[in-house]
Amino acid sequence: MFNLAQNQFLQAAEIMGLDENLRDRLLFPQRTLLVSFPCRRDEYSEVETVFGYRVQHILTMGPTKGGIRYHEDVNLGEVSALAMWMTWKCALMHLPFGGAKGGVRIDPSKLSRSELQRLTRRYTLEIFDMIGPDKDIPAPDMGTNAQVMAWIMDTYSLQIGHAVAEVVTGKPPVLGGLEGREEATGRGLVYLIQETADHLQLDLKHSSAVIQGFGNVGRNAAKLMAQLGTRIIALSDVTTGIVNRKGLNLTAVIEHVENTGSLKGCPDCDEISNAEMLELECDILIPAALQNQITEDNAARINCRLIAEGANGPTTLEADAILAERGIFVLPDILGNAGGVTVSYFEWVQNTQEFAWTLEETNNRLHKMLTDAFHRTLQRSVREGVNMRTAALIEGIHRVAEAKLARGIFP
Ligand code: NAD
Repeated sequence: MFNLAQNQFLQAAEIMGLDENLRDRLLFPQRTLLVSFPCRRDEYSEVETVFGYRVQHILTMGPTKGGIRYHEDVNLGEVSALAMWMTWKCALMHLPFGGAKGGVRIDPSKLSRSELQRLTRRYTLEIFDMIGPDKDIPAPDMGTNAQVMAWIMDTYSLQIGHAVAEVVTGKPPVLGGLEGREEATGRGLVYLIQETADHLQLDLKHSSAVIQGFGNVGRNAAKLMAQLGTRIIALSDVTTGIVNRKGLNLTAVIEHVENTGSLKGCPDCDEISNAEMLELECDILIPAALQNQITEDNAARINCRLIAEGANGPTTLEADAILAERGIFVLPDILGNAGGVTVSYFEWVQNTQEFAWTLEETNNRLHKMLTDAFHRTLQRSVREGVNMRTAALIEGIHRVAEAKLARGIFP
C-alpha cells in the first residue's frame, strides 16, 4: 500500500515537474512511531501483545490530522500510505493540517466492550507524546468510532489535568462532537457524486449503484443515494454481498443489520461474493471498505460509468490506466472521502473556540468546500489532460510544496 501511495505521488510529481529535493522530502513520513503493548483480556490471565502505530507525514502545514484504524492487517506501510494521502487530501481541501494516521493491529470485532476500552486507553498512552490539539489530532477510521474517540479524549485529558475536547474529532456530540460528523464522509461523497453526475449528464433518479462496505461510509452513502432516488442494487460487508437488480429495500436491510450485525441472511435478495459484486453492471460503483479492490485483474470487467471512491486506496495504478482507457470516470479517494476530515476540521475549530454551528451550517459549508475542490480538480484535469486522481494529487502537492518553500530550511 505504501508503494501505491509513493508511486501515485511520483507519477504526479513527474507530470508537474516537482523539484527533486522537494520530491525526495515528501516521499517519506517525517515521524513514525511503532509501539508494542499488552492488552489484558476479560479472562484476567490472558494478556495479548499487540502492535500500534502513529505516523505523521508532513509537519509543515500546521498540526497533523488523521484517523485511527483497528484492523487485523494494519502495518507500518499501510499507516504510512494513509498518512501521505491525508497530507494531499488536507492540502487539496485547503485545510491547515499535514497528514497523519494511526492504527492497531487487532480485529476489534473479537473484543468485548471493556477489552476495546482497555486497548484504546493503553494505545492512547503509548502515543501520548505525539498527539495534542496543536500537534496531531486523531479521528475515527475503519474499526473505530465516536466511543473510541471519547475514550482517547478522556485518557488524554486525565494526563493533562483538564478536559481537552479538541485533541480528537469524531467525538459524541455531548463531548463537543459535531452533529453531522458521523455521516460526513458518506454525505460528502454523495455531494461529489451529484457534481460528477451533472458533469457526466447522468440522471441520478434513473441510475443504479453498487456499494462495497456497509460501515460508516458505505451505509451513509447508501442512505443518501437512496434519498436522491438512485436504485441501490448491491451491497456488501465482510460477511457477504447481497444483490437485487430491481433495487434493495434499504430500510429493511438496515433493520436486518441492526438486528443481526451483518448483511448475511438479508431478505428479498440473493447472495453474491464481494469480487462478483464489483463487476455488476451499474451506473455508479462505490468502494467503501478496503484498499486494493480494483486491480489489473478485474479492471477490464468493471461495468459502470463512475467509480466514486469512499475507501482509501481501493484502486491500483495499473487499474487506473485500464479504467482511463475504458472511459470510466474515477472520483479519487483523496477528494471522494474528504468530507470526513473537512467536518473534523469544523469540529476542531469549534472546540478551540468553544462555539457550535448548526447542522445546516455544517452541511452548507461542507458542500461549498467540496464542490470548490471538485471544480478546481476537474478544471486542472481538463486543462492538463490528466485523470482526476493525478489532478487532485497535483492540487495538493502544489500547496504543500509552496508552503515548504515559504518556510525554508533550518538552519
Ligand atoms: P467501518 O469499519 O465503519 O466499515 C467498514 C465496512 O467494510 C464494514 O461494513 C465491513 O464489514 C466492510 N469490510 C471489511 N472488510 C471487508 C472485506 N474484506 N470485503 C468487503 N467488505 C469488508 O469503516 P469506515 O469508517 O466506513 O471506512 C471504510 C473506508 O473508508 C476505509 O478505507 C477508510 O479509510 C475510509 N474512510 C473513512 C472515513 C470515516 O470518516 N470513517 C473517512 C475517510 C476515509
